[in-house]
Amino acid sequence: MGKYEGFEMRVLVIYTGGTIGMKEDPADGALKPFNFSQIAEEVPELHKFSVRLDSYTFDPLIDSSDVEPSLWASLAQLIMDRYEDYDGFVVLHGTDTMAYSASALSFMLEGLTKPVVFTGSQLPIGVPRTDGKENLISAIEIAAAKRTDGYAMVPEVCIFFDSQLLRGNRSTKYSAEAFHAFVSPNCASLAEAGISIRYNTELIRKPVYWDATLRVQTRLDTRVSILKIHPGMTEAVARSFLCAEEIRACILETYGSGNAISKDWFLDIVREAGAMGKILLNVTQCKSGTVNMNLYATGASLKRAGVLSGGDITTEAALGKLFCLMGRSDNNAWVKSMLEKDLCGEISK
Ligand code: ASP
Repeated sequence: MGKYEGFEMRVLVIYTGGTIGMKEDPADGALKPFNFSQIAEEVPELHKFSVRLDSYTFDPLIDSSDVEPSLWASLAQLIMDRYEDYDGFVVLHGTDTMAYSASALSFMLEGLTKPVVFTGSQLPIGVPRTDGKENLISAIEIAAAKRTDGYAMVPEVCIFFDSQLLRGNRSTKYSAEAFHAFVSPNCASLAEAGISIRYNTELIRKPVYWDATLRVQTRLDTRVSILKIHPGMTEAVARSFLCAEEIRACILETYGSGNAISKDWFLDIVREAGAMGKILLNVTQCKSGTVNMNLYATGASLKRAGVLSGGDITTEAALGKLFCLMGRSDNNAWVKSMLEKDLCGEISK
């Protein structure tokens, strides 16, 4: 790998922070971030790549728990600015919010024809049993991979973790401890790394036009709440999540196939929010499967109250999709019309 018809592949590794770049500070034993040149020291295999690697380090480096949409905007803008110079991009990112960031970027980068591969690790790259080396090396290989016709093998925003390449906007963090930290229950892996990397070419999305110009949507509207339905929820809590003035949209994390409390007080609040013009999206709390509001009476009454089906979208993807669509237009009717459409592989047809 690494060469296509004599050309050297070029990959930009963007380091935002997270466990992968941590090293123990001998002074106090605490884990602290170090700069990318030290990562290359920790992974001498990187020097053997025929891929030309450049790096960009965010300042400050952050634990991904502190990720803000402004970081997504900087990331998207950086990829846009360097787009012509590289065959692919690897984003080193903490695992805690990686699925949120990869989801958001999938909506923010329109007309993407090159790979943007997020990765990180559960153990710092500087410790002997780290999963970071394998994740980093394979992510770079995937970011540089070309089809026989010279186009990118995976022109998508994705997450590589523990030998699986997952579509970014289908992924969710599943384990706080295991190396197998991410799952994508409603969409098969885009590739699996074994002795060689086997690509699921049928599933990998192809751009409408390979010569498309990348457009970046950095204007995000974050006026979204997420209401996880639970037994014992009070009227006051439901109203504050659904009807608050500062909220433009609410993701209702419902039970099973899209069910919520069937009591009048709850449906009245949902109707009130609908009448206020709020965008209401039904996303299941289940990790796998889809919302079907025609299956049970409770789901059907949500639908009648104006709640839209999120299908099998993840909460992470629903958030990024709403931020992006709402950032693009003040017209809620238009946002609603786009929500149930599959924009970049985030829902099953
Ligand atoms: N708290 C860390 C982060 O998300 C955990 C990790 O990197 O895996 O930044």
